[in-house]
Amino acid sequence: MRRWNGWGEEDVVYPLPKEALGFLVAELGESAPAPSVPAESIPVPFPRLPDHPLVACDPKTRLVRARGQSFADLAALRFGEVPNVPDGVAFPVCPSDIEELLEWASGIDAQVIPYGGGTSVTGGVNPVENGKPVLTLSLERMQALLELDQKSHLARFEAGVQGPWLEAQLRANGFTLGHFPQSFAYSSLGGWVVTHSSGQESLGYGRIADMFQGGRMITPAGRLDIPPHPASAAGAELKHVVLGSEGCFGVLTEAVVRVRPLPEKQAFVGALLPGFEAGLEAVRELIQARVPLCMLRLSDVFETRVSFLLANLGRLGGLANRALRFRMPKGEQRCLLLYGAAGRRGDVAKALQEAAAVVRTHKGIGLGRIPGKSWQKSRFRLPYLRNALWELGYGVDTLETATAYSRLLPTYGAVMKAMQGALATDNGRVYAMAHLSHGYETGASLYFTFFFRLAKGFEETLACWQTIKRASIQAVLGQKATLTHHHGVGSDHLSYMTEEKGEAGLSLLRSLKATLDPTGMLNPGKLLAP
Ligand SMILES: Cc1cc2nc3c(=O)[nH]c(=O)nc-3n(C[C@H](O)[C@H](O)[C@H](O)COP(=O)(O)OP(=O)(O)OC[C@H]3O[C@@H](n4cnc5c(N)ncnc54)[C@H](O)[C@@H]3O)c2cc1C
Repeated sequence: MRRWNGWGEEDVVYPLPKEALGFLVAELGESAPAPSVPAESIPVPFPRLPDHPLVACDPKTRLVRARGQSFADLAALRFGEVPNVPDGVAFPVCPSDIEELLEWASGIDAQVIPYGGGTSVTGGVNPVENGKPVLTLSLERMQALLELDQKSHLARFEAGVQGPWLEAQLRANGFTLGHFPQSFAYSSLGGWVVTHSSGQESLGYGRIADMFQGGRMITPAGRLDIPPHPASAAGAELKHVVLGSEGCFGVLTEAVVRVRPLPEKQAFVGALLPGFEAGLEAVRELIQARVPLCMLRLSDVFETRVSFLLANLGRLGGLANRALRFRMPKGEQRCLLLYGAAGRRGDVAKALQEAAAVVRTHKGIGLGRIPGKSWQKSRFRLPYLRNALWELGYGVDTLETATAYSRLLPTYGAVMKAMQGALATDNGRVYAMAHLSHGYETGASLYFTFFFRLAKGFEETLACWQTIKRASIQAVLGQKATLTHHHGVGSDHLSYMTEEKGEAGLSLLRSLKATLDPTGMLNPGKLLAP
């Protein structure tokens, strides 16, 4: 059964290795175990909705869908501070149910929150208090593969389909979507599309925006049907109204996506680079020279240390480190590069050879398959560490952005400085680390992770987290990088949207909202301030 106040399945644990805990204590100081109140102790108010056959109003169903997976969400659930809970959760099974539910909600002046897998890390599925009853509209029962056009490599799915079931239905037919966000186990196709998601193999398969070909969005103003033309010059692309709409313009009920034949082989390998700057140059060259890789991830020095501790690769790192030191004295600056290729057997081998040659020209040292295998093993397990860390009294959260290659290093430096120093005035310490992933011809995404000690109470813990996050976002925007590369806006990033889009851009988005959702019933308080 899925955890109601943390990541993953209740019976799966991923304990923090002893060496990693020792490292954390040395960096941040000892911490006291933090509380986790039982679900039953959280008050769930009487629902403000009339009965409806598709709507469940029992406290448990409502509580487990009251929050997403952001740090603030998990802190609220663990401390038992959950003021706004949906009044009911609807489980439609077809588009006409959704049309009927939107009409019903409109008749009783309720707000409606579309809900996929509930893995939003930006407050995207949280109810806001505006005096109106809240109906969370979950697409969990809409997970079917409706059509597979094998000739055109197009698959039409119900939008509630979650990662594993989507892949299973495709794999049974010899295809894959190739979209593997770290939240793959629970996040849904609809959620991916409307949050502009990016999977770990985006270098080879593209972002969800590249895969999304069309579909159906049901809006309070009517159906928006987007046919999956391979290309069209008939005015502005309506797909872009759906991408990034975060449940504020309509409910995506089905999506047509580009799929690919299952690769004959895939392989992931590791290398060490002498420093983040050298690594960035190697990555840029690999991407701009179009070496056909499906995944690239370059960790900075701080993340490299943690990766080696977590994956127990110490010996391997030691050997390569000695080799690096021999070639270049700054042994401590080693940065882990992971990369992989997928496709026909011969093509994979060729791509990896080509990549290794580029890595060598940047004074990198190959580590072979072991780090790649270790990454494959833990790629979807790592989020479980958030539970273990919480129980030990440590908080962890992430922040991501993207910018041009020429701006990557200053952006990295500014965000790291802001994060590391954010709690300094209160004598608090932050361990920050980063990696580059999701590379493009012109730039790449930077993904930061930060650790800090939890405070005793909810308010104080939240204040620490907000201080770090605010300082880091200001550093991102100060560097003119984007507010978010793939997590989206939700409620957490709302106040920065004017800086991101400008007044004209925002008013364009607001006019789309006014056209598709004139009464503002869909997901208020997200994406766009009223
Ligand atoms: C541990 C962890 C790892 C993550 N890793 C990644 C990653 O690698 N890449 C990445 O891109 N993201 C990642 N995320 C963020 C999150 O998984 C994505 O934003 C994902 O796309 C959300 O999908 P979901 O189905 O869970 O959506 P939800 O959380 O249910 O909803 C997110 C938003 O989409 C709206 N929505 C959902 N479904 C629909 C629909 N059918 N129609 C209209 N609106 C809808 C909601 O109203 C909300 O605004 C991660 C999150 C966690 C917790």
